[in-house]
Amino acid sequence: MNTRRVRTAARPEPHVGMKRTELLDFLWRAQNAHGHIRTADIDEAAGALGVSNVEVEGVVSFYHFFHRRPAGTFTVYLNNSPVAASKGFERMRDAFERYTGGRFGGVDPSGRWGLFETACIGLSDMEPAALINFHPFTHLNSMKVRDIVSKLRQGAAPADICDSVPDHIRGVPDDDRAILLRDYDPGVAVGRLRELEPEAVLAEVRKSGLRGMGGAFFPAGIKWASCRGASGTPKYIVCNADEGEPGTFKDRVLLNALPGLMLEGMVVAAYAVGAEHGVIYLRAEYAWLREKLQHTIDHFRKMNLLGRDVGGVHGFDFDIRLQLGAGAYICGEETALLNSLEGLRGEPRNKRVFPTERGFLQKPTVVNNVETFCAAARVIQIGADRFLASGTPSSPGTKLLSVSGDCRLPGIYEVEWGITLRRVLELCDADRPRFIQVSGPSGQCVSLDEADRRIALDDLPCGGSIMIFNRQRDILEILAGYNRFFKQESCGLCTPCRAGNFILEKKLDLFADKLAHTADVETVRAWGKIMKMTCRCGLGKTAPNALLGALDNFPEVFEGQTATNPDRLSKGFDLDEAVRAYERFSS
Ligand code: SF4
Repeated sequence: MNTRRVRTAARPEPHVGMKRTELLDFLWRAQNAHGHIRTADIDEAAGALGVSNVEVEGVVSFYHFFHRRPAGTFTVYLNNSPVAASKGFERMRDAFERYTGGRFGGVDPSGRWGLFETACIGLSDMEPAALINFHPFTHLNSMKVRDIVSKLRQGAAPADICDSVPDHIRGVPDDDRAILLRDYDPGVAVGRLRELEPEAVLAEVRKSGLRGMGGAFFPAGIKWASCRGASGTPKYIVCNADEGEPGTFKDRVLLNALPGLMLEGMVVAAYAVGAEHGVIYLRAEYAWLREKLQHTIDHFRKMNLLGRDVGGVHGFDFDIRLQLGAGAYICGEETALLNSLEGLRGEPRNKRVFPTERGFLQKPTVVNNVETFCAAARVIQIGADRFLASGTPSSPGTKLLSVSGDCRLPGIYEVEWGITLRRVLELCDADRPRFIQVSGPSGQCVSLDEADRRIALDDLPCGGSIMIFNRQRDILEILAGYNRFFKQESCGLCTPCRAGNFILEKKLDLFADKLAHTADVETVRAWGKIMKMTCRCGLGKTAPNALLGALDNFPEVFEGQTATNPDRLSKGFDLDEAVRAYERFSS
């Protein structure tokens, strides 16, 4: 683990001839050296790239974790997701403010404490949680916050006092039916490439029915075949390690427990499509995993599992580098991720051409996420037939679920596709579940009435997150939290997403204040439809999902909040009481 924030690092290296793809790294180095990105750094980057300062400013301003002003000697990012809220986020917010003397949303006058809220940091099984200088602090309580602040004041480095992060693997299928979380011997999948032609690898992946595990579920074999058939060179393999869906932390566990398996999956994909270069796009929230990943890459090079003639396959050259993101949920969308890799704002591209034809640097590119590459390595290791023996005909294999919220055993569960939601709730010992969010805020919210539905592509698809909320939780508050998240993370490119999330927020406010009218329900449904049909990317298309689902599955929540009078006046509003506080000013 990196031991301290790189405050004293040498100033950014000279950048004559800096490539645009190096811009994010340059900005990180500049920020780590000076505590923020200075105007001089912007000038330097713009000069080296031959672009305007405004262009570089535009990139800096896109990412949450880049700061143009000092962000504090200790920069605290406290998770404010709905799960964090249910575990005591507000109390931790107060505790950080009380013990540091700072205020959230900025830096205290001493310049020592920068306090910021952030969306999910991938630690939902250990909430409340925060990153301090990008080191993880979990299971926070007020006393622990006081202790952390005290130690930092006394000179401790965040890296020396942060928490180790357990994997919390709670369950795997019985009878050797696990696929991902089974024993791992490095090099077995890559070793098989000596006996298989690239076409045979492709055929095996297609036969397995493996799909992208990030939530889009596009068949991996079709994607890889498309890239193989594309004409440009070089070709690229990009691993999307930017899981940002609130409540999701399964890729964190794979990156920590099985980084080699993921690398092998990338090698297998490279061999199948004829790629020479690989990039892992690691979300900044997982910067604390970077050293381990780099160490694994270096080890693979020594074992000839990366580099020239990989795995002893003559003429198969492939290597992988790491790219740290800078905080933007939208970069989990593959074309936004590619833009970010190219040193641009992480805005989704127009989908006229798929990345398999024109992806990274306009070259044929396969983008899959961590879990997909791990599963691909297993397909080659154990064979498609064994893979197909788990799961259901429509959803073969297994799935990792990150389970969090109101349950006694939050953590990672490898389950066979087809498991019922009820069984998942039993496994994690759910506590009086009422509102269950499947596949994150962009997925579906279901009630216990639907607990017998199966987690499968043809019933209840799940990209990896299950958040459980019990009867004490305020559903409108949860929905408002989701809405805030999408509003903040929208890149703002297209109007239906930009305006739609804003309008939905206003409607949710009306419900919360008991000022909504039944017509507002229809407005919500209409905007939900518009957003699904017209938003450019998945963020906007899925942003209204939870609210629309809640209208159907939890109508009582909205009915109880609707004003009965058509003029929307709250009958409970007491004007005299409301103005009383101001009377002393007028007397
Ligand atoms: Fe950006 Fe939202 Fe449009 Fe996606 S839907 S491109 S996030 S504005």
